[in-house]
Amino acid sequence: ELANRMAERVGAVVKALMQNGMMVTQNQTIDADTAELIVEEFGHRVVRVSDADVEDVITQVEDDAKDLQSRPPVITVMGHVDHGKTSLLDAIRNAKVVAGEAGGITQHIGAYQVKTKGGQLMTFLDTPGHAAFTSMRSRGAQVTDIVVLVVAADDAVMPQTVEAINHAKAAGVPMIVAINKIDKPAANPTKVRTDLLQHEVVVEKMSGEVQDVEVSAVTGEGLDELLEAIVLQAEILELKANPDRAAQGAVIEAKLDVGRGPVATVLVQNGTLKQGDIFVVGEQWGKVRAMENDKGVRIKEAGPSVPVEVLGLNGTPEAGDVLNVVETEAQAREIAAYREQLAKDKRAALGAATTLEQLMANAKADASVTELPILVKADVQGSAEAIVQAMEKIGNDEVRVRVLHSGVGAITETDVGLAEASRAPIMGFNVRANASARNSANQKGVEIRYYSIIYDLVDDVRKAASGLLSAEI
Ligand code: GDP
Repeated sequence: ELANRMAERVGAVVKALMQNGMMVTQNQTIDADTAELIVEEFGHRVVRVSDADVEDVITQVEDDAKDLQSRPPVITVMGHVDHGKTSLLDAIRNAKVVAGEAGGITQHIGAYQVKTKGGQLMTFLDTPGHAAFTSMRSRGAQVTDIVVLVVAADDAVMPQTVEAINHAKAAGVPMIVAINKIDKPAANPTKVRTDLLQHEVVVEKMSGEVQDVEVSAVTGEGLDELLEAIVLQAEILELKANPDRAAQGAVIEAKLDVGRGPVATVLVQNGTLKQGDIFVVGEQWGKVRAMENDKGVRIKEAGPSVPVEVLGLNGTPEAGDVLNVVETEAQAREIAAYREQLAKDKRAALGAATTLEQLMANAKADASVTELPILVKADVQGSAEAIVQAMEKIGNDEVRVRVLHSGVGAITETDVGLAEASRAPIMGFNVRANASARNSANQKGVEIRYYSIIYDLVDDVRKAASGLLSAEI
């Protein structure tokens, strides 16, 4: 690799190393100081890439207020399985594809844009589900501006509804409640509203602040009202971006296409992505060879909140990876290589786990940390409630335990996702993690602790919290 970068022969580099007393083979890793010595010996200039260098290249200067223009909101639909997320996304897309628009038929690229009757644009992420939302967030991409929480009127609030509420709250994203299946005879929207109260979601019809709209994904009833509610929420948020700058975006989906190579759907978050732009995205880099919008139409530019399929990557990035346009190909290569190395190192030292001990250690190092986030899963509602109540009593004004999510049932991959995104451990009371959750927790370094005595669980958390307290002194 080093020989490659210097455009020297491998044999020559190995020989030089041996002359310096290092008996190495060509695949061996050498330390940075040695590499520097060798590079100088070959008469090349050393450029060490560090976090700071990467930051320098990709950090975007704050935009001047005068350059900011309003941008469309980005919406994620969440809710319990079978409550109609997919149907609702389809209904909105089909009803709102402006007739006669070039391309017309929407492609599946992971996100789509619609225009309301009033002419406002909005972008829907077409990957419903909580896993997508949290995996994006855990990779540093906060793309969602508004969560539409779908609750079936004939079923009311269910475990994944609660989960969705907690995800949205943890991310600090405002919600709009879509009470779906209003066409069904058994529909009881009032029950949905009262159920939501128990989870501290007070909708407008209950004199709260969260907008609620009755809809039917099947008959199309209420869809316009839902879009209006989104427009209103977006206005409150005053979403803005600067279209006249190098683009920054987030990967919504990525795949290796047999014919076209790696393809990624990128949601532009700031600036304008243009054909020919050179970029880094996670551990990959590339040059925009071509772009297609959600209608399958080739476009040359994509501005803020526009989802585009990008061709011209050297590898397949991951959902949630952040894309930054840079000036030169050399910069792009350097940063991608550096990140790849960092990721390798991190995987190697999988000590970076989110354990309770580690949280304490981190908190001690970072005096601003005053919250101990945790997830609670229990076998029955009563235990879950008892644990949450006990948690709320721990801590004082400076340090407190924050239960991000509490639920009943086995620990799932979604729980692990949320835990990872918020760097929280999962406390299981008389429940186990299923196999996929265990694998995922191992991979992501999320700690799962099992208890069968509430006192032990509470005591461990209390100890961790008092660790934080003493760190403050
Ligand atoms: P998801 O799991 O949340 O994505 O739910 P789906 O969109 O797959 O919907 C689950 C089922 O509910 C499907 O059989 C839909 O046809 C049905 N469904 C969804 N929305 C409505 C609705 O507004 N009214 C009625 N009657 N059925 C609906």
